[in-house]
Amino acid sequence: MSRPARAVFNLDALKHNYRLAKQLAGNGKVMAVVKADAYRHGAIACSRALADEADGFAVACIEEALELREAGIEQSILILEGFFEVSELTDIARLRLDIVIQNSDQLAMLEQTPLSQPIRAWLKMDSGMHRVGFLPDQYRDAWERLNNLAWVNDIVLMSHLSCADDEDHDYTLSQLETFEKYTLGLPGERSIANSAGLVEFPQARSDWSRPGLMLYGASPFPHPHPIADQLRPVMELHSAIISIKEVPAGSSVGYAGKGVTSQVSRLGVIAMGYADGYPLHASNGTPILVNGQRVPLIGRVSMDMLTVDLTGLDDVKIGDPALLWGESLSVSEVAQHANTIPYQLFCNFNRVPVSYHETVKNLESTHQ
Ligand SMILES: *Cc1c(COP(=O)(O)O)cnc(C)c1O
Repeated sequence: MSRPARAVFNLDALKHNYRLAKQLAGNGKVMAVVKADAYRHGAIACSRALADEADGFAVACIEEALELREAGIEQSILILEGFFEVSELTDIARLRLDIVIQNSDQLAMLEQTPLSQPIRAWLKMDSGMHRVGFLPDQYRDAWERLNNLAWVNDIVLMSHLSCADDEDHDYTLSQLETFEKYTLGLPGERSIANSAGLVEFPQARSDWSRPGLMLYGASPFPHPHPIADQLRPVMELHSAIISIKEVPAGSSVGYAGKGVTSQVSRLGVIAMGYADGYPLHASNGTPILVNGQRVPLIGRVSMDMLTVDLTGLDDVKIGDPALLWGESLSVSEVAQHANTIPYQLFCNFNRVPVSYHETVKNLESTHQ
């Protein structure tokens, strides 16, 4: 028998979440953000599942875009960081990739490199995140320069929100205002919203929304929000109990003795560790489902294993199933216990064998 850790990705849930994003976007188009291997859900599998309905896809860099083109994805693919070297521009033009232009070096390189086929550029404004993008008062000049290039046939006006998941809306509203003010009168489509922006700010929806996290079924908000109940988690992370033993009160558990039993306790070990992407910093008490019932993590997570306190749970035996996150235990709750965000838990996912579940024309299929 092989190690019981495994992940199942539900592509029906992905489609459901995409359709929810489309609904929220109204008449706007929605590009599915599949960077970082679709937040480690598998960029090719996820993009293929959405290929019939997605208006476009977004990735971080050209390597990720090439992977999708090679897999047969024909929609527009936007490279969110743009290009780093002139040599990338040949493939960008040949494969009809869209690029973000976010700094003046990229703009200068593009000016000096006539392309065989015209491309679409997304000109990014830094409306307040202060990461990448042109500052508002440099934006119009950058637009003019792009607009002068014969090999740029379409310019989308773009920005990114830094605090759309915050309960306080002030900062986002000021970003939206800045974007509005400094793009006033410029022609072209607009794109602002990530998941949180799409859900929370109708005025940020514009022509193109760019949701990522919500497509995978996790709420983009750190606080309780009704959208959480409408999203369906795509990833289920499973494993099983591989050891059970009873120890006296006062036993220290795992490396560095980070957990100590308060009573005579039955401890169960689950084949799941930080090498699989389970967070090292999950605190004592982080919930895990064993046989569908919540039990608390105890002690520090190891590389390949972690320990739960099964005291009070009857009839647990070696081989019984454990769910680390999924439909009945949200990744967000686990993230909170580990003082991190669902984005990072997804991105850290590693090593575990995966399979995909998808209902195709009333036939259920599971493939590896
Ligand atoms: C990652 C990213 C997104 C998607 O953000 P989510 O919070 O996952 O919805 C959208 N736009 C840009 C520019 C990004 O880098």
